[in-house]
Amino acid sequence: MRVLVLIEERDGVPTGDSLGIVSHVAALGLYVAALVVGPAAEDDLGRLAGAGAQTVYAAALPQEPTCPIEARLALLADLQASAGFDTFLFATSALSVDLAGRLAARLGAGLIWNLSSLTMDDGRLIGRRMARGDTLTALVEWETLLRVGLMRPGAVEPQTLGKADQPLVVQIEAPKPSATGTVEISRSPSLGAPPLASAGIIVAGGRGLRVQENLALVSDLAEALGGVMAVSLPLVDMGWAPRALQVGQTGATVAPQLYIACGISGQYQHKLGMERSGTIIAINIDRDAPIMAFSDLAVVGDLSKILPDLTQLINKRRGSPP
Ligand SMILES: Cc1cc2nc3c(=O)[nH]c(=O)nc-3n(C[C@H](O)[C@H](O)[C@H](O)COP(=O)(O)OP(=O)(O)OC[C@H]3O[C@@H](n4cnc5c(N)ncnc54)[C@H](O)[C@@H]3O)c2cc1C
Repeated sequence: MRVLVLIEERDGVPTGDSLGIVSHVAALGLYVAALVVGPAAEDDLGRLAGAGAQTVYAAALPQEPTCPIEARLALLADLQASAGFDTFLFATSALSVDLAGRLAARLGAGLIWNLSSLTMDDGRLIGRRMARGDTLTALVEWETLLRVGLMRPGAVEPQTLGKADQPLVVQIEAPKPSATGTVEISRSPSLGAPPLASAGIIVAGGRGLRVQENLALVSDLAEALGGVMAVSLPLVDMGWAPRALQVGQTGATVAPQLYIACGISGQYQHKLGMERSGTIIAINIDRDAPIMAFSDLAVVGDLSKILPDLTQLINKRRGSPP
């Protein structure tokens, strides 16, 4: 079995999710290669080799203003033909969801998404994914010879399994995407903040905010702490925040060092997305809210009073000399 992992980068560095997939597959004893698109620093190539990638393909993107998806799709299909990869794995992101679907269609491959782990059973690659509203774990297998898989955000942690000082790097030319491909006209970042999955500190707001204006209390605290704002599902449904900020079963799975839940009751579907956080602080007027039972620190009180004071205090401490 030959596995290729597409590496996504954030600020020029491979994401933890991408590295995690490489080491997860390497730990199964499978041949795993990594594909980096765009300029790759020596350190990054070493990180990928350290995670267990036996080969790192470094591809320069074509100069013409093509959509990143078209260029990557052409690269992956080309590598399948030239290097004989049979399994393609991606960390779930807006880009990779689109790309994985297109690649599966182009190769006639089976596509399994929301994978939480992979195992080998008698030479067969088996995936695990949550089913029935995350209430049970299903074992799934591809019926096709070629496989495409999307791993759930935060599902697998990077490990050091290979030799970081000896990456085998193959430079490749990106093939030209088809003439009918999408053309990128302009690019604008959808969110100024880094994505939730890799955030170290998250301040999340829920329906307890009561009015949309109170979202500013959450984002102010997140900013004061150098973290990122997140929300529960109802705020997305009400149109107060984009889906990209939602934590939970149908949103992002996060594992920051600190998660502050403001006005969030802690229903099962929200808990699923944040229970792996290092320290959980809940601010809630209801001392019996479910979230209080799995928080490290439960603050009983009105968030509209607590959050401004907390933010002010942090800003003051930060501004004052040590
Ligand atoms: C299939 C499915 C998938 C789902 N996926 C997700 C998901 O991905 N993410 C997600 O979040 N939910 C998800 N849900 C919804 C989930 O079940 C809950 O309904 C949702 O998480 C509740 O959001 P909440 O805690 O913000 O709101 P509520 O449950 O309404 O809780 C609001 C909390 O705010 C507190 N509060 C009120 N006023 C104040 C105040 N002034 N100060 C402090 N606290 C206050 C209340 O005591 C209460 O505990 C899903 C549901 C289903 C069925």
